[in-house]
Amino acid sequence: MNLNPDVGGSKQSVTLKGSCCCKTLKYYLKLQNIDDARTTLCHCANCKKAFGGVFGLTAKIPIQSFRYESGSEKPTVRLIKKPGP
Ligand SMILES: [Zn+2]
Repeated sequence: MNLNPDVGGSKQSVTLKGSCCCKTLKYYLKLQNIDDARTTLCHCANCKKAFGGVFGLTAKIPIQSFRYESGSEKPTVRLIKKPGP
């Protein structure tokens, strides 16, 4: 992920580019406002397994702001069911 976002204009829109480690998948984010992105430290079982630690660090963005440039047609959306009562 590019750590130097292009921030400009009165809306403070942001464009960020990134890729997987081997660069096969390339993607970009276009946020209307930097506040549309949220980071989370999560201690659920899924995040512990995915990150191989005691927590996972994730970023949450509106799905419509995410696009692949190469390597895939569309993002994978995974819904996690919260434990019920
Ligand atoms: Zn989690």
